[in-house]
Amino acid sequence: MNQRKSNSDALQLTGKRTMSRRRFVGAATAATLLGGAGGSGLGAQTPEHATASGATLFSRFITLPPGSIAPEGWLLRYAQINADGWVLKYAKDAMPPVWGRYTHRTSNPKLGFTDHDEWIDAPDYGSYFGDALVHYGGLFPDSEVAAEAQKWAAMLAASQDADGYIGGFTLKARWQCWLEVFSQSLLINALLFRYECTGDGALLNVCRQAADHIMEIWSHPPADIEMGIFSGHGVVIIRTMGKLYAATGNDSYRKFGQTVLERYGRTKDYLAGGDKIVHEHNAVASEHIGLPAAVYEYTGHPDLLKASQAAWEMMQPYLSVDGTPHGNEMIFNVGSRANCEHCGAVEWIITSRDISRITGVAKYADAVERAMFNGYAAPKSPDGLAVGYMHSPNQLVATEWSQSHDNDGDVDSWASRQHFSTAHEPLCCNSNGPRGIPFFIESMVLRSGNGLAVSCYGPCKVTAKLPQARRVGLIIDTEYPFEDEVRVILDTERAVSFPLQFRIPGWCTSAVVEVNGAGSGASAEPGSYATVERIWNHGDKVTLRFVNPIRILWRKKPEFGIRARCAAIERGPLVFSLPVEADRRQFVPPAHGPGEDIKAYRLFPKDAVWNYALILNVDHPETSLTLKKLPAVAGSRPWDSNPLIGLEVRARRVLNWRMEGEPEHPKTPGFPFNPMQLSDQVEAVTLVPFGATRLRMAYLPIIPA
Ligand SMILES: [Zn+2]
Repeated sequence: MNQRKSNSDALQLTGKRTMSRRRFVGAATAATLLGGAGGSGLGAQTPEHATASGATLFSRFITLPPGSIAPEGWLLRYAQINADGWVLKYAKDAMPPVWGRYTHRTSNPKLGFTDHDEWIDAPDYGSYFGDALVHYGGLFPDSEVAAEAQKWAAMLAASQDADGYIGGFTLKARWQCWLEVFSQSLLINALLFRYECTGDGALLNVCRQAADHIMEIWSHPPADIEMGIFSGHGVVIIRTMGKLYAATGNDSYRKFGQTVLERYGRTKDYLAGGDKIVHEHNAVASEHIGLPAAVYEYTGHPDLLKASQAAWEMMQPYLSVDGTPHGNEMIFNVGSRANCEHCGAVEWIITSRDISRITGVAKYADAVERAMFNGYAAPKSPDGLAVGYMHSPNQLVATEWSQSHDNDGDVDSWASRQHFSTAHEPLCCNSNGPRGIPFFIESMVLRSGNGLAVSCYGPCKVTAKLPQARRVGLIIDTEYPFEDEVRVILDTERAVSFPLQFRIPGWCTSAVVEVNGAGSGASAEPGSYATVERIWNHGDKVTLRFVNPIRILWRKKPEFGIRARCAAIERGPLVFSLPVEADRRQFVPPAHGPGEDIKAYRLFPKDAVWNYALILNVDHPETSLTLKKLPAVAGSRPWDSNPLIGLEVRARRVLNWRMEGEPEHPKTPGFPFNPMQLSDQVEAVTLVPFGATRLRMAYLPIIPA
């Protein structure tokens, strides 16, 4: 193990190789030595919002209070399955390493590995889990999950020491683990959210004292402290301090967040341009990208917002067709077999959501939907219990060996982790993953000045207060993203005038916004928000129709034409791929995270024919692909293998395109070699939404119609 660790250190310095989470432990520390970005004073821009506490926020949109948006239809089933799945199971099992690290503190300040390569004592598991639990509690206020959230928050509050400490380490082991500040930051977020749900001021006090203690540690560091705890993942304390500033109006939180950003943030790098994202850890990169914008939100300094926007653009080349950052844990490559870590999908959704809220620019919300409906949904088991730590666009096998980039045979310490498990090693993706759904729902509809903005679409009911109305409701009736129409019905106590904004996604070619069946007069430019301002009466109905073209997303041209050129198919927010039925075989994983009754599965293709080339008119793909409603299956779960829509297309089999690897250890192949040996037979195949597949081929060779 020592040998392996020193190899890993060497790899960090060469920079060209990927860096796994284990290797990243060292990198977080190294980053401490590099210093931070330059100073930036408080700006003087017109405030957008004043909070009840007296804080000033510079943000186009603001989030509605918890519980304002209730999911309906497919979104309700999806949220319910995930609330009652992994999150509720871990709440009920109440295992110390996940549920109650704070009452069972560890004396081991360095993350260690067992003989079976299991990572023990990581404090982030419990904080991701707790944050997921309270957010599901906010979605379902009178549920079992809400009762468990209440219990967990009370346990955490009661664990707080007199000095304010709420972390997972005993006195001697504090402030040394690289996840210390990161995990406490998530705990404060979780308690703040619970405070917003319940109004329980005691929880806010716990948050204040915990934050005051962290600030004290920063300004008067103990002798054995590792300041790197504020870098890497630890920088998210910046976002947490902004939330505390908003909740309390206390300026010291705002100033502290700004100070940490100046020391450990990447504002200057982002503003300098270039490619500052590649080879970074996917989740940490996404966190960092959003932080200058987070500080902008509570200081108004325009350069900070520019920095986040520039960094967000830097990520674009590394987003896969499924909308999530790709490489492995480290960002380095997109491609048919490049992995995405599930945590990377969640953090990218969080960062894009925050920049979307702050700027009110439609493309950031496009990115949220794109990730949510494709790369986020795909590696989750439909029962909400297991997840694939990694997934890739073309994936015929989901096992520990099935991904080719990180598993050459000489270094297998991290394997590919594409298999599905209820307790991966480490447990981050299992515990972080469930948060994506409540985070998405909470940001679907936002306050915009004295009106409302519908930012992401899906079936839900919204209840909001406006300055001019005690209660306005919106019923958003749609199967979106499985249909192109969204119907919004106003539910008001009396006639009330306010602006209602609707995001017109950048992928549609045109859109219409009708009110009560007639033109609304609103400009509905793709990639912008359409605004309808009028006196709304109870029962008024807005209908949005998006015209979504079918697009061919080509992979780059292969060098020397050795392999066939392949493409994926996109329509609206959905990428369509060839589903491959999975044979799910339970196994005992060689390494796993903490959990009771752990279930792990390898997925193999089941008698599947997958080696198709699509017959497409590449100039007019809509003439080759037919959108079809698929038969509804009773009891079907959202994003399971019974999707609501598909694209039918003609295809021929590529007879010289076969699985790679050994019979016992199959792997997904690269693109087929030229010339392709095509079957004479033309068949009709149906591509389905990427998010509805566990095994799939998203990229297939294209042959002209
Ligand atoms: Zn993870």
